[in-house]
Amino acid sequence: MCKDMPPLELAIQFHGHICPGLLMGVRVAEFAQEYLGVGRDYDEELVAIVETDSCAVDAIQAILGCTFGKGNLIFKDYGKSVFTIGSREKSKAVRFSQNIDALAKPQFKRFRELNQKTSLSSDEVAEKENLVGELFEKIMTASFEELFKWREVPYEIPAKARIHKTIPCALCGEGVMETRVIISERGKLCPSCQAEFGGELNV
Ligand SMILES: [Zn+2]
Ligand SMILES: [Zn+2]
Repeated sequence: MCKDMPPLELAIQFHGHICPGLLMGVRVAEFAQEYLGVGRDYDEELVAIVETDSCAVDAIQAILGCTFGKGNLIFKDYGKSVFTIGSREKSKAVRFSQNIDALAKPQFKRFRELNQKTSLSSDEVAEKENLVGELFEKIMTASFEELFKWREVPYEIPAKARIHKTIPCALCGEGVMETRVIISERGKLCPSCQAEFGGELNV
């Protein structure tokens, strides 16, 4: 991905479509960059802790460079639109909590309805396109406080992702991270073999 691409473009290209959730993530990522005085992450200078796996998280990955693969995107499955972004260099972190009614406007509800349909009539396609325009305007021009509550929080960001040794599973022979093996009577098993054959171990 081109680093000179505008943040919004980065997010849309990465996510594949434009939707209210993605735009909320764009607002968070841009606010965090400005507040923390940081650019896009190269080598885990930034860390994002996300408490949802919604569309917004893709904007955070694309714009901030906090990604699942790099290990500086930490997912807590709490079902909350809460995002904490921290900078190791600045020892600073900021927490964002989406206002419960931020996406409650009728246009958002209608957009979600259309989004969930498997096929759209040509009228609905046109309606959806218009809604995207309206939603874009609403989210991108809203004051930040209309969308999120935010505050600086104590910097308690985990250490950089560690690289662990890979060993072969005693059953399937596939490589598995040493910290994830389960020691059994059949030897050191990967989690999938343990899940599949674990029950037979005492037979
Ligand atoms: Zn989306
Ligand atoms: Zn295995």
